[in-house]
Amino acid sequence: VSRFEGVTMAPPDPILGVSEAFKADTNDMKLNLGVGAYRTEELQPYVLNVVKKAENRMLERRENKEYLPIEGLAAFNKVTAELLFGADNPIIQQGRVATVQGLSGTGSLRLAAVFIERYFPGAKVLISSPTWGNHKNIFNDSRVPWSEYRYYDPKTVGLDFDGLISDIKAAPEGSFVLLHGCAHNPTGIDPTPEQWEKIADIIQERNHIPFFDVAYQGFASGSLDADASSVRLFAARGLEILVAQSYSKNLGLYAERIGAINVVCSTSDAAARVKSQLKRIARPMYSNPPIHGARIVANVVGDPALFNEWKEEMELMAGRIKNVRQKLFDSLSAKDKSGKDWSFILKQIGMFSFTGLNKTQTDNMTDKWHVYMTKDGRISLAGLSLAKCEYLADAIIDSFH
Ligand code: PMP
Repeated sequence: VSRFEGVTMAPPDPILGVSEAFKADTNDMKLNLGVGAYRTEELQPYVLNVVKKAENRMLERRENKEYLPIEGLAAFNKVTAELLFGADNPIIQQGRVATVQGLSGTGSLRLAAVFIERYFPGAKVLISSPTWGNHKNIFNDSRVPWSEYRYYDPKTVGLDFDGLISDIKAAPEGSFVLLHGCAHNPTGIDPTPEQWEKIADIIQERNHIPFFDVAYQGFASGSLDADASSVRLFAARGLEILVAQSYSKNLGLYAERIGAINVVCSTSDAAARVKSQLKRIARPMYSNPPIHGARIVANVVGDPALFNEWKEEMELMAGRIKNVRQKLFDSLSAKDKSGKDWSFILKQIGMFSFTGLNKTQTDNMTDKWHVYMTKDGRISLAGLSLAKCEYLADAIIDSFH
């Protein structure tokens, strides 16, 4: 008998568990729309050309494998903050941004969560309903209390803006408000620029601290600047902000675990102190971050030629997803005789579509049609090809009715 008898079996992860089930399915028609990972039209994983070029350069230089400092690669931290806020943003020139390299978006969110737990004991984090499944795990494991604010309105299949505003208003003063910078996961619904201004008004009024999760910069609209406009709007108001960044999607660096946590402070002095504490949190967790992904990002973003090429490749990826989105809408509209309005699919933005399929219906998608997706009704359009749109439309229509 094992000393670990008391250890119960953990449930599979609601997102990554879908990929495991997909692998086990032997049906030819199977489709993995669970995890948000970009695929080519042939449904193969894609390594960006700019990443290959950057890696070739790195190999030629025979760079060493010495430890990075706790805060990560300096060249990476510089370009990542510039990409986010804009290189000429005064907050950067004034040294008011504390940037620490993190283990992709998740690890960066986790550093921020521990920071909140330590320096704002009892403060609540407000998260959207629904949100990316891992947000709750991150705050739970960091012992940070959280509650939800209304976000998605199933009746309009759009943003519940009034609900959002009143919930943020009603939260205890000085709460953290977690916002998706762009391409909200899982709904694909973002506030308009006017709505962002209103959200910023309320956050300011209530003395809350905005906490952005930016996992899709460049992937929503195809433009890095447009997708950072929400964060920049808050920064331009002189607010103190937390921003977690990820390069999993926009540079396809999923397994390199490269991202950053940025804390915008009112003074450079505060930024220096915040950075010192983020380092103190990182040290006993993983000591210092991995170097390979940081070098790739620094080479791509820091080199004007590669940077331009990256933008073109990102437009291509975002463009392919938009084409698939359109084709899926066309297929559904043509095939479905029920009169259901499918236009919500075109209004959504980013990698995902939030279909409105419930748990029983998603079970039908998987059990009968071999379409793998999360139980909240989200499908990743990045894992769909034009060739498979008709099949998916049949599966969705069958599952709805
Ligand atoms: N936040 C959101 C909203 C996401 O969708 C993701 C990726 N699915 C992440 C953070 C973090 O992913 P990663 O840790 O791979 O950067």
